[in-house]
Amino acid sequence: MRWSRYYIPTLKEAPADAEVVSHKLLVRAGMIRKLTSGIYTWLPLGLRALEKTKEIIRREMNAAGAIETLLPMVQPAELWQDSGRWKKYGKELLRFKDRHDRDYCLGPTHEEVITDLLRGEVKSYRQLPLNLYQIQTKFRDEVRPRFGLMRGREFLMKDAYSFDVDDAGANKSYASMKEAYSRIFSSMGLDFRPVEADSGAIGGNFSHEFMVLAETGEDAIAACSNWPDCTWAANVERAPIKIDFEQDSTPCPAMEFVDTPARHSIEEVCDFLKTDASSVLKTLLFIADGRPVAVLLRGDRELNEIKLAHLLDADDIQFASPEQVQAMTGAPVGFAGPSGLKGVDRIYADRELKAGNDWIAGANRADTHVRHLSLIRDVKLPIEWADLRNAVAGDPCPCCGKPLEIKRGIEVGHIFKLGTKYSDAMHAVFLDENGKERTMIMGCYGIGVSRVVAACIEQNFDEHGIKFPPQLAPFDVQLVCLDPRNAEVAGMCDAIDAQLSARGLEVLYDDREERPGVKFKDADLIGLPAQITVGGKGLAQGVVEVKDRRTGEKTSLPAADFESAFSAWYQTVLDGWKR
Ligand code: ATP
Ligand code: MG
Repeated sequence: MRWSRYYIPTLKEAPADAEVVSHKLLVRAGMIRKLTSGIYTWLPLGLRALEKTKEIIRREMNAAGAIETLLPMVQPAELWQDSGRWKKYGKELLRFKDRHDRDYCLGPTHEEVITDLLRGEVKSYRQLPLNLYQIQTKFRDEVRPRFGLMRGREFLMKDAYSFDVDDAGANKSYASMKEAYSRIFSSMGLDFRPVEADSGAIGGNFSHEFMVLAETGEDAIAACSNWPDCTWAANVERAPIKIDFEQDSTPCPAMEFVDTPARHSIEEVCDFLKTDASSVLKTLLFIADGRPVAVLLRGDRELNEIKLAHLLDADDIQFASPEQVQAMTGAPVGFAGPSGLKGVDRIYADRELKAGNDWIAGANRADTHVRHLSLIRDVKLPIEWADLRNAVAGDPCPCCGKPLEIKRGIEVGHIFKLGTKYSDAMHAVFLDENGKERTMIMGCYGIGVSRVVAACIEQNFDEHGIKFPPQLAPFDVQLVCLDPRNAEVAGMCDAIDAQLSARGLEVLYDDREERPGVKFKDADLIGLPAQITVGGKGLAQGVVEVKDRRTGEKTSLPAADFESAFSAWYQTVLDGWKR
């Protein structure tokens, strides 16, 4: 492809709203443009990377026995009323009416549509199992669309849905998708981890997220440091703390009150009392489904809201309002503590607090804290011990006991066993071998296709631009012609273009009348894995220069025998990408 006849509007500056590197580079490299908040146009170069991504997904989904289909994007409200989600799904669901005043929505996901399809078509166990997938535009009216393609409102998803006759079949479908996903992300040349995710009501090991490791990731992952010998990894949301904390019974001096004027936060209290957050208790007050709840954690720990929600079996957990705090503690916000709390029937304490017996805590009195608080001696309310905090680096791996590391990741895929959630609600049944009616067991499997392109860049870039892994690069090779007016140089470029194209390589041939500096900058910005530079000086010495974009390493190849020299060198570029 000749650049002069193509459309790659590269930019020197990133847009002002771009916070993350993938957003900046995708726009600067002329791959995407913003239409409006969270909605982007794919320009030709971007589209090629997107198509590569789709092809890898298709290939592996087909190989795993899933069958491609395409479901409508506009969905009638009735289906969502059937599943019960018309009311439950919040404002992310974009709803609208047609000319007959009927309600519709734009599909944020397709469980309803697919279940509706199969409940009408599948009658017998003989027609199952089935796994249907599509690659399609989704719409979610996200509260905070941001980071470009990473969290868009309109985005491309691959979603698959499996239907099985029994649990064993459903588990097999799940396992086969889990393997397919690993093959997909490996084929893309991405450094990723499948991590255990929260599987809600289904329980068991039946929800995994696929995380591309990148420092800019929105998700925190707890992963065993002993990788790859131990492959355990989980979203921090669900990483259990497997430590047997024993009650510390070191004698604690008598509790005393200390003035802490206007010191509300743990940090302020620590500064003021010259102590460390690990010796302070953090007392958090919530209203969970209408019930006041008190939670205790070590001052330097973070509450894990998912663990708390599971423990309380609550749907709605909100921080107590300043008035509610006042009612429970008799003090303004910032001075709550476990001793003398009102209006709660117990205290939920993180198990780690057993490991200490001499704490600093709020006194439930304005501008006051207490020192030498012993939970077993000074708290009258019953204490329920539970695992309530987020895992931190150094906690033991629940699988092998070696220390955990905390990494950041970008969720590019999510697989989930649904069980009969939708098939029950929407009556998707079949007749088994004995003619008995049974409910189909479902699974759903998503990949954020457009997010993959962004995640790939978050993992592969430098100060000059993108470093595309060969598998997702929009073209294989950038051929830079330094002097299109020089017949010898242009002739050599034409010959290289023809030779490499004939071998099946996709060549982006920069034949523009531009300064070399502009062309080099653009080549690094776009980041195709291999660059070839042909110029008059080089040719005079009988050489053509090549550059491996990943390493930045430049090599001179003989112009006379370019084709075979290139092919050996190009293999080293590809090998360099193998992890
Ligand atoms: P998230 O926690 O990031 O909001 P989700 O749990 O809502 O994701 P799913 O409903 O499981 O996501 O969707 C499947 C996949 O679609 C996700 O793993 C993610 O890669 C992608 N995805 C979800 N929301 C968006 C979005 N707003 N923009 C781009 N991709 C998205
Ligand atoms: Mg979401």
